[in-house]
Amino acid sequence: MSSINTYPPFPMPTINYKAALQLDWIVVGGGISGLATAFVLQKAGHRVRVLDRLKKLGTPASGLRVPPNLSKIFKQWFGEEALSKVAVRNVGTPWIDINTGERIGYHPWKPVVMKETGGDFLMMHHEDVQKMLYKLATDVGVKVEFGVDVASVEAGDPKPRVILANGEVLTADMVVGADGATSIVRQTAFGIEDDAVQGGVTLLGGIAPAEEMLKDPVLGKMVLADEWPIFMGTIGACHPVRAKKEFAIQLFVPTSEGGPQNDGKESFYEVIPTSAIDISSYADDVQRLLKMVPYFTRSRYMKRSKEVTDWMDKSCRIVLIGEAAHPWFPGGSHTTSMVVEDAVVLGTLFSHLDSWSQVKPFLYAYQEIREGRTKAVKQEELTNTILVHLPPGPERDARNLHMATPATEADWDDSMLQRELANFAGIFCYDASDAAEEWWVDWGRYSHRPSEERERETRLSFLYSSAVVSSESVTAPLTGEGKKQ
Ligand SMILES: Cc1cc2nc3c(=O)[nH]c(=O)nc-3n(C[C@H](O)[C@H](O)[C@H](O)COP(=O)(O)OP(=O)(O)OC[C@H]3O[C@@H](n4cnc5c(N)ncnc54)[C@H](O)[C@@H]3O)c2cc1C
Repeated sequence: MSSINTYPPFPMPTINYKAALQLDWIVVGGGISGLATAFVLQKAGHRVRVLDRLKKLGTPASGLRVPPNLSKIFKQWFGEEALSKVAVRNVGTPWIDINTGERIGYHPWKPVVMKETGGDFLMMHHEDVQKMLYKLATDVGVKVEFGVDVASVEAGDPKPRVILANGEVLTADMVVGADGATSIVRQTAFGIEDDAVQGGVTLLGGIAPAEEMLKDPVLGKMVLADEWPIFMGTIGACHPVRAKKEFAIQLFVPTSEGGPQNDGKESFYEVIPTSAIDISSYADDVQRLLKMVPYFTRSRYMKRSKEVTDWMDKSCRIVLIGEAAHPWFPGGSHTTSMVVEDAVVLGTLFSHLDSWSQVKPFLYAYQEIREGRTKAVKQEELTNTILVHLPPGPERDARNLHMATPATEADWDDSMLQRELANFAGIFCYDASDAAEEWWVDWGRYSHRPSEERERETRLSFLYSSAVVSSESVTAPLTGEGKKQ
């Protein structure tokens, strides 16, 4: 097969510089975005403390997808060997009707296309990602404190204040709100009331043991395949995790189904027994699989009336990241990659910090780089979700026909591979570090010296040209004529 090379094969390493001005940061929230942010900032020379209200790492969770735009970051951070011990590489997605069990189609994730993106499409357990990020962050010196509940955050003079539920007040040079979709930082420091309303879907996430699945001829094949099967109708997405020792299942149940499977809060802390879920309408294979899951976490998709318009507060000392800045929907396939990309962009920008005057432009640049991308990717994911969820009818029939179109190996010629790459390039080929460095090279470095220093240089060159140099004249304010006021 000839090459379809279009994109640079080597991703840009993350965080290549140490900031000359090193600040104290408090990160509220030790989820994936909080830990990733803490790691990159500390690596960039800053001092970072993370506060999370959870008592410990390792609450019940399920699977998540690590698309190439994220796996290339993870490969650098964790190394291939550590990743291969817990991740499974996805080679294809079978499309299956959840009610009949009928296989509608198959989408191969072609290795040659994946290679062009610079990464792999991996499937992992949420807890593994969080634990690996925790180790990464603490190994470079981040201080992570659990059991710390933040009640509010407010701008200070000049340092922002973090008020804990126990009344203690902490300060830092900068505060990051990485406290998820229901962010208390967003509500208190930004004054944004949370007007979340039901979004129409509940996510049930669970884990089946591979040991059990291997006793079943159909399910045994499923756990051993390097695949990400997607059940359509009520959406069920599932895949092996932890090097195929476990199988993660996520069911996206529409509100119309009612019952305990469609209740609860927007959190990942509610656990319900499998027996509480009505699975009677699903195909036999699906029912057998679900019965192997001891319990499910239940989380709800909530809609908010407005996007967060400013990701930094007026003082430019408090900034939102991850789902605190752009709430997603639970179980999204791009959520993890988006929040880690946020972190890489913020960390990369602040690795160039040498003056307080850069903080504001850096925060604006961070939002500028990230906002458009997160909106576009979320829209794409919502569109795909609607397609997978289509109710019976002509639209669903047309979709199935399209998905069923067989593509033999011979069909995958250069032009088809190019089309395939073009479909995914926008999302998968993105390099967060590159995006931030590009901004720095194009815009940031021109203002990289402290403003007083630049002002001083301007004055000096003016005074040299006027031949009136004195130490007093270069430090005192000047009028436009080059004279003291
Ligand atoms: C326990 C848990 C399990 C999850 N399991 C899955 C899963 O299996 N599959 C999946 O696709 N997604 C899962 N998610 C969601 C996924 O982590 C997010 O969608 C995504 O990674 C965005 O991460 P985030 O860091 O922005 O937000 P979150 O993951 O929501 O992290 C926010 C963190 O902030 C902490 N926090 C919130 N408020 C406060 C406060 N006031 N004071 C101190 N700390 C606070 C929370 O304890 C949490 O650790 C889970 C989230 C959590 C919290």
